[in-house]
Amino acid sequence: MILQLALPSPLRRLFDYLPPLGCNPALLRPGVRLRVPFGRREVVGVLIRTQQHSEVPADKLRAALELLDHEPLLPDSVWQLALRTAQYYQHSLGDTLAWALPSLLRQGEAAQMPDQWIWQAAPEARADDPSLNRAPKQQAALRVLKQHPHGIQHTNLARFDLQKATLDNLQSKGLVSLTCHRHQSKPRPSQWLHAAELPLNSEQQTALHALSAGLGRFQPYLLAGVTGSGKTEVYLQLIHQVLRAGQQVLVLIPEINLGPQTLSRFTERFNARIAMLHSNLTDRERLDVWLKARAGELDIVIGTRSALFTPLAKPGLIVVDEEHDASYKQQEGLRYHARDLAVLRGRLENVPVLLGSATPSLESLHNAQQGRYAQLKLNQRAGHAQPPKLLRLDIKSRPLDGGLSQPLLGAMRDTLGKGQQVLVFLNRRGFAPTLLCSHCGWQAECSRCDARLTLHQRQQRLRCHHCDSQRRIPEACPKCQSTELLPIGVGTERSEERLLELFPDYPVLRIDRDSTRGKHSMQALFAQIQRGEPCILLGTQMLAKGHHFPQVTLVAILEADGGLFSADFRAAERMAQQIIQVAGRAGRDSQPGRVLIQSQLADHPLLVQLCESGYFAFAEQALHERRQAGLPPFSQMALLRAEANQPALAEQFLQQACTLAEGLCPSASVELLGPVPAPMAKRGGKHRAQLLLLSEQRAPLHQLLAPWLAQLESLPEGRKVRWSLDVDPIDTY
Ligand code: ADP
Ligand code: ZN
Ligand code: ZN
Repeated sequence: MILQLALPSPLRRLFDYLPPLGCNPALLRPGVRLRVPFGRREVVGVLIRTQQHSEVPADKLRAALELLDHEPLLPDSVWQLALRTAQYYQHSLGDTLAWALPSLLRQGEAAQMPDQWIWQAAPEARADDPSLNRAPKQQAALRVLKQHPHGIQHTNLARFDLQKATLDNLQSKGLVSLTCHRHQSKPRPSQWLHAAELPLNSEQQTALHALSAGLGRFQPYLLAGVTGSGKTEVYLQLIHQVLRAGQQVLVLIPEINLGPQTLSRFTERFNARIAMLHSNLTDRERLDVWLKARAGELDIVIGTRSALFTPLAKPGLIVVDEEHDASYKQQEGLRYHARDLAVLRGRLENVPVLLGSATPSLESLHNAQQGRYAQLKLNQRAGHAQPPKLLRLDIKSRPLDGGLSQPLLGAMRDTLGKGQQVLVFLNRRGFAPTLLCSHCGWQAECSRCDARLTLHQRQQRLRCHHCDSQRRIPEACPKCQSTELLPIGVGTERSEERLLELFPDYPVLRIDRDSTRGKHSMQALFAQIQRGEPCILLGTQMLAKGHHFPQVTLVAILEADGGLFSADFRAAERMAQQIIQVAGRAGRDSQPGRVLIQSQLADHPLLVQLCESGYFAFAEQALHERRQAGLPPFSQMALLRAEANQPALAEQFLQQACTLAEGLCPSASVELLGPVPAPMAKRGGKHRAQLLLLSEQRAPLHQLLAPWLAQLESLPEGRKVRWSLDVDPIDTY
């Protein structure tokens, strides 16, 4: 018998091995892990299939070393999901499984909840026991244990400054005991609600009715509800029904910063076994969540995109909150889109998939129009909240102070004076995006990227936001020696400095990646906002997503123009989503909200339409334009990227790739555009280029990709470059 294994390797192929010596062949089922020799290393592979013959010569075949599982690791649905993911994204199966599995499983850890070993003081043991007279360490250890009548877990000894050797000595004197406790699952609650459900308004009721009628089978839903319309309340009430049916729920959120807020809404509502997969978990904790979910010992699992692959014993519903969010698409390695795979998973599990957003992606709106997703709409804000008013502020000829115009400053004063909060949105961290020599026009640029360096005043550094390189701020212009170096433009750091001067009586809370580095600083900032006293929140997109800040009644968007200039065909969609999402933080409680949008192009038709007619009118228009231009979602795209130390190498490789593709696809049903330099042609010292594949239909594109990638893998030119394929790319950066 020959075992074909997926190994953690970028190569798109399987590897042949003989079974481990003396292994019962009945145990060798697809989906079990084996430890195998690989070159000079040992790695953990997953068995994909067995067969009778191998192409590998018999004297080259090696035997696997050890079988690690007695049962396949994944339930069939998630197994199929992983296989299809690898196929769809044209990625190595071994590497796909590596992304999908917790890291301890990739390293060969047993796939079961570990037994717990517990140290306890013997009931009659005393710290003044004569046998301890000359053993102060043992005495101290015994005292610690006596303070913990339920004992201390062996894995936690370090936390209490205890050493195993000390406890061993105490054990040999009969003063402490070590016992093994089998893992026991918490029982399923019978009463699910901690807190009463809100009475739904009629739109919410209609949505919930439709959703509950669809439980128990596959159907994607797009819940398109304006910001603050009570989408989360609809999720919660639907989830309650799923819990009552004895099933589990998987909830995906775009960003882990939203985790605590989401988690607390769930724990306040439900008396359920809820786990959140977040980046601060240890590998062991992550594996424990995975194992409990697989065993049905968790009712609700919340997590970011990679949580999609969490196995569930009894799945009942998948929710993807803020489905439009770009962070659902992984931008490295396995370039999957968790929203799209959630829909696939729903089909494989035969459960409904609920996609929610106030600003749905054009892809999802298109799917809804095509009837593939059932669309549910919430047009009104829930409770007493009013929709915010969006006002455009032309700043072409207005002087700005710290990025803020006079009318905006006036509105801020007014709002703070009424005891309310202001949110200022500026999607650019640092002090200033440019450092300019006012004498000769020199600008500080990154030597490794086609990009300017951002000035970070507090750190006294120039930093590249693309490759993370940094350097000291020069004292004089390196070109003309002039010392008149001026920061041009405004980032959050500069705005903060000016706001503190302009509003000395109010706290200014800056929220961006630089100010929230500490583990808990973000939570402390959010806690302060929730207290509701007047203050100014100043931040980047970290602030824009999904947060519920009841006291914010004024939102100021300092620069709304980015998306109107960009060459990326998705830029306008992103800009519109961002504006509406940030605007949606205003007036979420009883006081009405206002949104002021500063723009150099305040009369741009896109901006006018968005402000006057709202996101859905904008999206209608944008979809129309995409259809005219033959762009996604009206066509299918893949992007082959290459980067190399010399510009010619990347283009040569792509040129070869292009010729091969033409050979494989003579009917020209797939259009090949390029190769061209990437929009940022140099980044991190690498020269980058790309080849775009565009096709009206999905099938011809995918028929081309598999044989094409096999050819690319064996191209000698491919060894001198780093290349990757991005199926359904969401940006071409
Ligand atoms: P979304 O998820 O659509 O942004 P949320 O679910 O966060 O909206 O709801 C916004 C606010 O409205 C929350 O404070 C929520 O408690 C409240 N809310 C939601 N539904 C109702 C309802 N039916 N009646 C009263 N308040 C509601
Ligand atoms: Zn100069
Ligand atoms: Zn750089």
